[in-house]
Amino acid sequence: MIKFPIYLDYHSTTPVDTRVVEAMMPYFTKVFGNASSKSHEFGWKAEAAVENARKQIAGLINAESPDIIFTSGATESVNLAIKGIADAYAPKGNHIITTKIEHEAVLDSCKSLEKKGFDVTYLEVDEFGLIDLKELENSINEKTILVSVMYANNEIGTIQKISEIGALCKRRKVLFHTDATQAVGKLPVDVIESNIDLMSFSSHKIYGPKGVGALYLKSKFPKIRLTPRVDGGSQERGFRAGTLNVAGIVGLGKACAVAREEMGTETTRIKELRDRLYNGIISGLPEVKLNGDPGNRIANNLNITIKNVNSDSLLIAIKEIAISTGSACSSESVETSHVLKAIGLDDKHKHSSLRFGLGRFTTAEEIEYVIDKVVEKAKKLRDISPLFRVTKEGEYAGF
Ligand SMILES: *Cc1c(COP(=O)(O)O)cnc(C)c1O
Repeated sequence: MIKFPIYLDYHSTTPVDTRVVEAMMPYFTKVFGNASSKSHEFGWKAEAAVENARKQIAGLINAESPDIIFTSGATESVNLAIKGIADAYAPKGNHIITTKIEHEAVLDSCKSLEKKGFDVTYLEVDEFGLIDLKELENSINEKTILVSVMYANNEIGTIQKISEIGALCKRRKVLFHTDATQAVGKLPVDVIESNIDLMSFSSHKIYGPKGVGALYLKSKFPKIRLTPRVDGGSQERGFRAGTLNVAGIVGLGKACAVAREEMGTETTRIKELRDRLYNGIISGLPEVKLNGDPGNRIANNLNITIKNVNSDSLLIAIKEIAISTGSACSSESVETSHVLKAIGLDDKHKHSSLRFGLGRFTTAEEIEYVIDKVVEKAKKLRDISPLFRVTKEGEYAGF
């Protein structure tokens, strides 16, 4: 039995796993203390829960637990990382390198720094969404203080060569930050092996609650300076003031523990469903293009262009399926997604792209339903499209 609507927008957010909810529950009512209260048991218990979560999170990414700083989510982590580094290292240089396909959290942080006199290089990507390492190396100059390249893209799923980028930054003595929001919990992320200095990620993308995230900040070799964004207390080693969201942090910890345990089998299962979805759609519909890297891609992502089918019209025709036409943030604007633009998607197909995000609770039955519906409705839309026709020879034309 399929429960409608079908959720296939796991890049935007995920439901909280019931195991995570259970882990969080005591911290709302029974163990409600302030983790900063050092004088009594309420505080000690809350602090112990936070430190346990820190261990669970560190364990997933091969970090030391003191190197985890809790924030309100990846957006805040990214702001803290990029603006915090910019401020602390401004005397050394004013140049930052990032890419054209970053999440708005990174792009807007960089734009705001440009207004303050920083110089930002936005690296191009190839048709698969990969940056060129030589171009990255050539962009580094004596004023470069930070390289920020996302781990996995939230629209097309492309995974960057993070370890190579990390090694390059280490060799050139430039700090390396990565927005790993779509990678943590889905890929074996190892901050030490990949030479990552700072890394942002979020709880609600990995079956934890919304409003909590973390910044990994390497505490030695090199010791990194960072100007806080939020002042008002000495929490989180002074990098982020404010009473800790204990229940949320416990939830993020549990979500990481579950991911660590189940990532291997889960990824295999989701990848099979994702590949079935793609193969089902292309065997039913001609002229469908895969966006992103065919191989180097997170298992739960499928981004396609169904040529000559307006994706908004298609979404209306399949209202019982929750998918996205671009990224969640750009679906409200009529602008083409900056990511699809960067990979060189033809302008005439810019309103024909769909992003499917599969996840922990996606079933094979749902995928079969989605294939049938997408194929059926896209065919209907093509039939009434003035741009599209079937030639006498029975071939499709007009793309
Ligand atoms: C969702 C997302 C963010 C923002 O995370 P929040 O926790 O919602 O602030 C940042 N970067 C990427 C790649 C994302 O997918």
